Amino acid sequence: MQAQDRHRVIAIDGPAASGKSSVARQLARRLGFVYVNSGAMYRAVTWSVLNSGIDPSDRPRIAELIATLSLSGVLRDRELHLLIDNVDLAGHLHEDRVNSEVSRVSTVPEVRNVLVARMRDYAGKDDLVVEGRDIGSVVFSATPYKFYIDASPEVRAQRRAAQGHRDEIARRDQADSSRSASPLIVAKDAEVVDTSHLTVDEVVDEIVKRLRAKNLKI
Ligand code: C5P
Repeated sequence: MQAQDRHRVIAIDGPAASGKSSVARQLARRLGFVYVNSGAMYRAVTWSVLNSGIDPSDRPRIAELIATLSLSGVLRDRELHLLIDNVDLAGHLHEDRVNSEVSRVSTVPEVRNVLVARMRDYAGKDDLVVEGRDIGSVVFSATPYKFYIDASPEVRAQRRAAQGHRDEIARRDQADSSRSASPLIVAKDAEVVDTSHLTVDEVVDEIVKRLRAKNLKI
């Protein structure tokens, strides 16, 4: 039995700045599910790589590092936070250097294996809304509840700029879509929602409507 058979998992994938974090967080609140931001997990590991002085292109050393890190999860307001060596790195996750290197560090298979195992582990404990790039296609491929959140490149660039972050989202999307390990794709059974002209509430309403149509008991 896969972990997701025991608890419900809603997968929210999509490119950078598509609005998926706001949507996934609000959807989780509305349903009382735990919110898991997998991008934040890859960002936390990237920060640890950089903080250890490891060259982000040195894949063997990154693989060694991930094996030595102590990872733990804490729930705060029904959101999962990944602690590394007991430190919550939340304040560091959107630093420019993390934005620049996270796509590269995320291609290291040992990193993906460790983080994917963590996510599956949590699905044994609670109902989850998990957002990322490969959640519906790989991590929880058996869940019937999969959404791909998209928005036009212009809208996404505006949204990221409004958050005050410097982030080359086009470059990250290119790297995330073209990598061989768990690339960003629209899972074949995912429902696509274009958020370009919708508010967060409208997107969440739409997803809830589609979940009810799939007979999710909420
Ligand atoms: O979602 P966010 O933009 O914070 O993700 C940061 C980066 O983490 C992505 O650009 C991608 O390289 C990586 N990521 C991933 N797989 C996921 C989630 C994020 O490779 N499931």
